[in-house]
Amino acid sequence: MLRTHTCGELRLSDTDKKVSLCGWLQISRDFGGMAFIDLRDRYGITQVVFNVKIDAALYEKASKLGREFVLQITGLVKERENKNHQIETGEIEIIAESITVLNEAKTPPFTIEEKTDGGEDLRMKYRYLDLRRNSVRNNLQLRHKMAQQTRAYLDNKEFIEVETPVLIKSTPEGARDFVVPSRMNPGQFYALPQSPQTFKQLLMVSGFDRYYQIVKCFRDEDLRADRQPEFTQIDCEMSFVEQEDVLQMFEGLVKHLFLNLKGIDLPAMPRMKYDDAMKFYGSDKPDLRFEMRFVVLKHTTDNENKDLTTGQGFKVFDEADLVAGICVGGCAGYTRKQLDELTDFVKRPQIGATGLVYLRVNEDGTIKSSVDKFYDVDTLKNWAQVFDAKPGDLLLILAGETVKSRKALGELRLEMGNRLGLRDKNKFSCLWVVDFPLLEYIEEEGRYFAMHHPFTAPKAEDMELLSQNKFSGIRANAYDMVINGVEVGGGSVRIFNRQLQARMFEILGFTSEQAQAQFGFLMNAFEYGAPPHAGIAFGFDRLCSLFGGADSIRDFIAFPKNNSGRDVMIDGPSEIDQKQLQELNIKLNITKPMKEVNC
Ligand code: ASP
Repeated sequence: MLRTHTCGELRLSDTDKKVSLCGWLQISRDFGGMAFIDLRDRYGITQVVFNVKIDAALYEKASKLGREFVLQITGLVKERENKNHQIETGEIEIIAESITVLNEAKTPPFTIEEKTDGGEDLRMKYRYLDLRRNSVRNNLQLRHKMAQQTRAYLDNKEFIEVETPVLIKSTPEGARDFVVPSRMNPGQFYALPQSPQTFKQLLMVSGFDRYYQIVKCFRDEDLRADRQPEFTQIDCEMSFVEQEDVLQMFEGLVKHLFLNLKGIDLPAMPRMKYDDAMKFYGSDKPDLRFEMRFVVLKHTTDNENKDLTTGQGFKVFDEADLVAGICVGGCAGYTRKQLDELTDFVKRPQIGATGLVYLRVNEDGTIKSSVDKFYDVDTLKNWAQVFDAKPGDLLLILAGETVKSRKALGELRLEMGNRLGLRDKNKFSCLWVVDFPLLEYIEEEGRYFAMHHPFTAPKAEDMELLSQNKFSGIRANAYDMVINGVEVGGGSVRIFNRQLQARMFEILGFTSEQAQAQFGFLMNAFEYGAPPHAGIAFGFDRLCSLFGGADSIRDFIAFPKNNSGRDVMIDGPSEIDQKQLQELNIKLNITKPMKEVNC
């Protein structure tokens, strides 16, 4: 070995030992006759001293070294005069006796420090240098520990890790596939898996009973912020279980991860029905770090609530399906300007509301509202009561079509959560959202789509609706785990009967020939003794970023792609040469020369 110790290892108790360290030159300082080098490796930083009086030639050599040179330094460990209590090796230093330059380095394009001067693009291009920075490396170390702990938990529960193929077959359902041309089968293509869904189900038919895999998945979707074309799932499947068993098992996994990686003992996770999540939070992934539930003043299709708004001449409320709002504690003092900002916020096209009504419950109990032209004091007081508002509270109310208004109000709720500092990254609020609809009708496509995927089983009590072709009301045995408003995992109880699976494809608009061609292998397998089974997959990158307290999954991926799906370091994707194209029997029909997209 070229070293006796790492750069994070030496302490006062090592004084007078002769040691060899290897690492990168973080920084050097010359005080005229005395030079100091901070030598860095993965484990830490150690200070090395060169004294002209002890060894003039060595001092001379040291003063010529540049940042990021790779060095081997031998010397004696000594107690430092000026101790640095910020670092673990800060009580000692090495009095250098020899130095070997293992490799020189060009000056890096940005500083390899926590507060680097490098912009995002530059750091992506030189990712191997960015990975030298502590915070980036720490993220990947956390990821490593997450994977280790996941394996430990699942192994302990008898799950078997099985690798499933990466070259599979394209299927029309779900997102767009990445495809790979097959040289040996001209004109034919493999697809990269969007998930190992069908394979894990086949493993259940094979009797594996409990499967998992920490696995790369690929989806060729338009990249929204913080999506990666390739990402990693903790993919799991179990046989002879019901929904409840899966929830318990994987609540256990997440609790295990929190306990072992963050020292947090999570309470049992509440369960919320999809319908309630939409009704009270306007989202199927509610952030429950704070309450601020929706309160309804009018809902035309829901008899639960009395209409407290119609008939007073306020057209917006009169014409609305839904009038609902949130009560924001302690914000009655919001200025006109702040309220205008919120109105602008809800009117942004992504949010889509037409306006915002407010009602202040002043400290003295009086009420001031943007609609007091239309509603008398008693009505407004009644609203405040329905909201359970206290003096000092502010009501923010939206109105319109139900689905849209709920969504907009959900966004406003999150915005208020942000403004009031209620979305603390160090606080974790987990829940299960259950009872998702099985199918959703997409107007533009004119057909039903599986809300989770086509292999999800309807709830037994809703099978009646299925036979009556009342698809919209059917609920699925599907579940999502939500942490801090982020869907970290989702799964379902599966169909394991050929006829029901065939019926599902029929509802989704497949002809029986198409269904057979695409998914015949799975339906055939169901005829050879398929056990009841269910499973789940967690977004591993997302889970890591949540544990690391970061917003972006990119920081937790060693070599991520940018927002245009490019790896700017290796400059991929790229064109391939004519010979390769010929071998693959591919003729390109691109009129414009392909322009390099460099970001
Ligand atoms: N394969 C599903 C997904 O990728 C998860 C599951 O149902 O297990 O979302």
